[in-house]
Amino acid sequence: MSNLLEKTVPRYTSYPTAPNFSAAVNAEVYRAWLEDVGSQATLSLYLHVPFCRELCNYCGCHTKATLRDEPINDYAERLIEEIALVADCTGHRKVTHIHWGGGTPSILGADLLKRITEELWWHFDLGTIREHASELDPRYLTKQLAQVLRDIGVNRASLGVQDFSPHVQQAVGRIQPFETVKDAVDRLHDVGIDRINLDLMYGLPKQSVADVRQTASLAQRLQPQRIAVFGYAHVPWFRPQQRLIDEADLPTSQERLEQAEAAHETLVQFGYQPIGLDHYALPADELTPAAKSGRMTRNFQGYTDDDADALVGLGASSIGRLPQGFAQNEPAVGNYMRAIAAGKLATVRGIALSAEDRVRGHIIERLMCDMTVDLGAVSAESGFDIGTDFSQELESLQPFTENGTLVIEGHHLRITEKGRPYMRLVASAFDSYLKQSRSKHSVAV
Ligand code: SF4
Repeated sequence: MSNLLEKTVPRYTSYPTAPNFSAAVNAEVYRAWLEDVGSQATLSLYLHVPFCRELCNYCGCHTKATLRDEPINDYAERLIEEIALVADCTGHRKVTHIHWGGGTPSILGADLLKRITEELWWHFDLGTIREHASELDPRYLTKQLAQVLRDIGVNRASLGVQDFSPHVQQAVGRIQPFETVKDAVDRLHDVGIDRINLDLMYGLPKQSVADVRQTASLAQRLQPQRIAVFGYAHVPWFRPQQRLIDEADLPTSQERLEQAEAAHETLVQFGYQPIGLDHYALPADELTPAAKSGRMTRNFQGYTDDDADALVGLGASSIGRLPQGFAQNEPAVGNYMRAIAAGKLATVRGIALSAEDRVRGHIIERLMCDMTVDLGAVSAESGFDIGTDFSQELESLQPFTENGTLVIEGHHLRITEKGRPYMRLVASAFDSYLKQSRSKHSVAV
């Protein structure tokens, strides 16, 4: 199994994955797709804010550090203009979910957060919104900011924790003791934001199994509804910031697996239900019944019960998922701002989904969400022939059936509990782009 652990595969937050997007999907194509979104269609909105006050060494996000407010103010103006541009194409559609990500979205400050939200209210119907979430940095969550978030309607907050151990925090360049995170959670509760997610990480420099266990144990004391446990992806060729991390300090593949298992054991022991690859939720959280009933889906923010018909990305680098395919905005902030200031959508790449992409994407999503998929049902719905179209895939999965991580009964695939960490590898058997792709991904576990 050790050679399997070292294989590099995508995280499958989309299929096809972003490295397979091309310039064939440009602003014109995206405009036509948006105009075709049906009048009854519901939207989910993702707003990307690519600024932080300082960069963490492990960061894998599209963001940049700034101490000045001017670039943030200019960016917010373009975001407001982009909202109007998109709404011109879609019309006044119902929005069910909003997610602010980054970067550090709260870096916008009270006035800009309010202005952007007012713009959303003006152009879309936010009256039946189910979830309004924001990623937050606990180091900057003041009482005033918590109140502003509540005032604009935020009802779920995700706080980045990573690891509570001081030596790991030192190694990743982000110091935030347990008390800092606890204060942030208390401030959110005080204003009535009770749906809290904490994001932990394993595979960090200088991190041990004991650190992970201790961090998971401390995190559950704060009683968040959800805890995500992400494996650190060391991709310095893609994120130069990570060159600050000494590779000699990184755990081995076997140690990463043991760390993931330690987090799993600790959280399950405290009553959290394992969800998909890397999430844990309390039984009362919305994700738990969604996961049990096959309603959970996967998007760029991870696992969700979001059932909107289309996901619209706003801001530099954001990716939207429309019924026709995926579309990504220009990642470079300057280019993004110039496009929007010129009155154009900032789409630079994407992919229109073929019939085969949809079938393979469905199989991969079900494996990543439910750990099981019925190829017979997929075949009946899509007309794909399992014997011919998936024979190679089924053959390539033999190592997993032999080591007890996957059970294949007829056309039914089931990843076992022992196989949970290998989910990405099993799913990757159905990725027809992977063999042709030269892009580098992170290790599977
Ligand atoms: S990890 Fe979060 S806070 Fe740190 S640099 Fe990246 S986006 Fe900013």
